[in-house]
This record gives sequence, structure tokens and C-alpha cells, in this order.
Amino acid sequence: MTLIERVTVADGREIPDAATGEIIGRTARHTVADLERMYQAARRAQKGWAALSQERRDAYLLALADAIDAEAEQLAVLLSREQGKPLEGPNARFEIGACSAWLRATAATSVPSEVLVDEPGNRSELIYKPVGVVAAIGPWNWPLMIMIWQVAPSLKMGNSVVVKPSEYTPLSVQALVAVMNDVLPEDVLHVISGDREVGAAMASHPGFDKIMFTGSTATGKAIIKSSADNLTRLTLELGGNDAGIVLPGTDIATHADDLFWGAFLNTGQTCAALKRLYVHESQYEEVVDELAKRAAATPMGVGLDAGNVLGPLQNRRQFDIVKRLVDDARDRGARIAAGGSPAPELGPTFFQATIVADIEDGAPLVDEEQFGPALPVIKYTDVSDAIARANALDAALGASVWGDDPDAARQVALQLEAGTVWINAHGGIHPMVPFGGIKGSGYGLEFGVEGLKSVAVPMVITTA
Ligand code: NAD
Repeated sequence: MTLIERVTVADGREIPDAATGEIIGRTARHTVADLERMYQAARRAQKGWAALSQERRDAYLLALADAIDAEAEQLAVLLSREQGKPLEGPNARFEIGACSAWLRATAATSVPSEVLVDEPGNRSELIYKPVGVVAAIGPWNWPLMIMIWQVAPSLKMGNSVVVKPSEYTPLSVQALVAVMNDVLPEDVLHVISGDREVGAAMASHPGFDKIMFTGSTATGKAIIKSSADNLTRLTLELGGNDAGIVLPGTDIATHADDLFWGAFLNTGQTCAALKRLYVHESQYEEVVDELAKRAAATPMGVGLDAGNVLGPLQNRRQFDIVKRLVDDARDRGARIAAGGSPAPELGPTFFQATIVADIEDGAPLVDEEQFGPALPVIKYTDVSDAIARANALDAALGASVWGDDPDAARQVALQLEAGTVWINAHGGIHPMVPFGGIKGSGYGLEFGVEGLKSVAVPMVITTA
């Protein structure tokens, strides 16, 4: 039986191929009653899972990684069709590889207990215990990798988990959970394929001990409100509108590929992508030209076709957002240096890789999160002004500084408001390096030791 056959149900909701619109499967129509059933089963299973030794749970994580590797190509094809990202490039196969890599790295990371005070009459030790049952709510852009970011540390720390994928990408997440449940003890991991109503029911459910949420800032705020009465612990990885600043005197040829991919990774549908680029006037035209050349030359098309590395917008709603922002930029007199239009010959939600020049802060393409293949490039004269403009928005997930003088770049990095500032790169992540936003991009950290602590509860043992 193929993975898609395992997760598709006869009377389920039709899920289209994001590139072509062809129906690829039918997802279960889970309801709030299903949520309750899964929650209760996860609650019952949690104690037994937590009672296993850390070594046993780590061994499970390694076995999960192996099981994913064994089904990697089937998972990648399903992900490519449902999400739209091509198989090749930093896309579907890469995402599946990241899932097993993250599981292995999580197995290899641990939270040491800390002796905080050790003096006569007072020895205080800080330890971390499982938080309990985790609700993991995810988006549609990197649906499998982000699910693993939420689930791997949760399982590691002795929690059970109920996963809710985005209603746009349920099948690939259900397939991944099916592969994982071939390995895990029964009921430790559940997946509920529901709509926003089911998400809202998870957020207000009094039983969940922790909500790991990745998605938009608006939904993050709704989750804070719905969970307030239960004091549910939250990690909120929300929207970004990352700025990059290219410092004067930077060798553009060296950095042009990384600038391009910083913005166009996953066809721009990446939380910590470069979403507005500030370039000093002395090199403005050169940067616009280099980016435009790459936008025009990078193969875009149906994900299963060899050679493509850019794909469609995952859904019509996101396509409409990108089109509105680019049309508005054109209408207000900005220069379209590359792309600028839908590409219906490729499929219904394709939009050309677009570089927009001669645009200012205040334009919606700059101030709103485009989450698609359209990068505004803004001219600046004074570096301190560029820093102020980069910091002016509420979104503060990532930011980047580009320059060949390490001290000057670091000085600028220190002044930027963001959870991560990259120098001469944008968007790179590592399982040992904490990741999370500030301001409107949320709170809490994932990855590494900090990520493990976020799915645990601290407890102090003090001995007199
Ligand atoms: P979204 O907020 O629309 O949906 C995310 C999830 O929340 C879905 O599963 C949805 O069903 C669920 N949901 C909707 N309403 C809910 C409610 N009231 N209570 C609980 N859950 C609810 O986000 P999206 O459009 O799927 O994702 C795109 C956004 O996610 C972008 O803003 C992007 O920047 C952000 N994102 C952030 C990160 C990060 O790590 N910070 C990573 C990826 C994506």
C-alpha cells in the first residue's frame, strides 16, 4: 500500500496538487469530537512514554529517522505535489532529509540538570520534567520539517503529542505520522486533520499542557486569547518580514547567489526569508541587476519535472496576496526589474520570480509579509537610517547584514531587532542553534538545549 493510500479516506475532503490542481487524495474530516478522543488517548499514553529511560526514547528518535529515510522518496513526491515545492533544489527532498537530520540531532542533544547552589545546608538543583501532552499546530509552507521541529523535542522530553497540520497540507503530514507510528508505541503521537475550528478547539482545550504553534501573527494572537484561562504554555513562531542591509563597499558578485536564495527559498514561502532588502545607493543598480538576472534565469515549474527549483504559490489565497502587493507596487510607480506577473502557462497559482526596485517603506509590498516570490529592493543613503527602517516594523523574526568588513557588519547586527541576525547569509538554521522571533514574530525558542527546555517544565529540588 502506498503512503497516499494509507492516509486517504473514501469520503474525505479532496486535496489538490498545488501545481496542477489535479486531486491527489482525500483527507479525513476530523472534528472536535475526534480531537477529544485523540487527546484522551495521548493523555493515557504519556505516562508510559515518560517512564521509559532517556536512552530508550533517544533510540526511538533514531529509529524514526531511519524509518523516514526508508520512505524518503515517497514522502518527497507527496510533499512536492501537495505543497508545490519542487523535488530538486532546497525543496522537497531537502525537507525530508531535514526531518531525519533533526530527529538524529535531537536524540544527540540533552538538557543537563544544573546544580545552582551547593553550600552547607542548601543544595539546589534544577531539573526538567515532561510538560505532558503537547498540541502541535503547523503551517503549510514547510509542513513536515516544522512538524518535526515541534514533535522531536516533545517526544524526546517524554511528552505525547497531537499534531494539527494546516488544512492546506494535511496529507503529507498524515503520511509522515503514519511512518512514525509504525515505530512508536501506540497513542504517543496523533494527527488530526481538521480546519481552523479544530485548531481553535485545541487552543482553548483545558487539557493540553503546551501549544507549539507556527503560523501567522494573527492566529498566534487568537491562540493567546483562547488559551489564557488555562494558562497553557505557548511557543509562538509567527510571521516575519525580515530586512537585509547591504553595506557600502560590499563585493556584490560574491554574495548575489546567497541574497537571491535568502529571499526565494521555497519560492519565498519561508518564515525567515529575506522579505525587504535595503541597499546603499552606491551599489543599488548593481544589486538590482544581479538579483533580476537570477530571478529571470532560475527554473520555475511543476515540482515533479526535473530541473525546476521554484514552484507555485501553495494556494490561491497566497497567490492573491502576492499579486495584490506587486500590482500595488507597480501602480505606485515602482520599477519591475524582473517578473511582476502571474505565470498561468505553468499552472493556476504560479507567479514569476519578481524583483521590485525604486520602492519605498510604506508601500504594502515592503510593510506587509508577502510570503511569496517578490522581493522589494529599497535604496538608502545613510546606514543608521537603514537600521531604523529595518527596525520600524512589528515583525522581528530574522534580519541580515551583508558586508566584507566583519567588525562593521557586527556593529550593524547588534543594532537590529530580530531573533536571529545573519551576517552574509539569510535564513540558515541549525538543530543546535536556538531559533525564534521577538516583537510581533512571537516568543519562545526552538532547537538545541533551549528547544528541549521549551517542551519541559523546570523543577527545583532543594536539600537542606
Ligand atoms: P495560519 O496562522 O493561517 O495557520 C497556521 C495553523 O493555525 C493552521 O494549522 C490553522 O488551521 C491553524 N489555526 C487557524 N486558526 C486557528 C485558531 N484560531 N486557533 C488555533 N489554530 C488555528 O498560518 P499559515 O498561513 O498556515 O502560515 C503562514 C504564516 O506562518 C506566515 O506568516 C509565516 O511567516 C508563518 N511562519 C512562521 C514560522 C516561524 O518559525 N516563525 C515558520 C513558518 C511559517
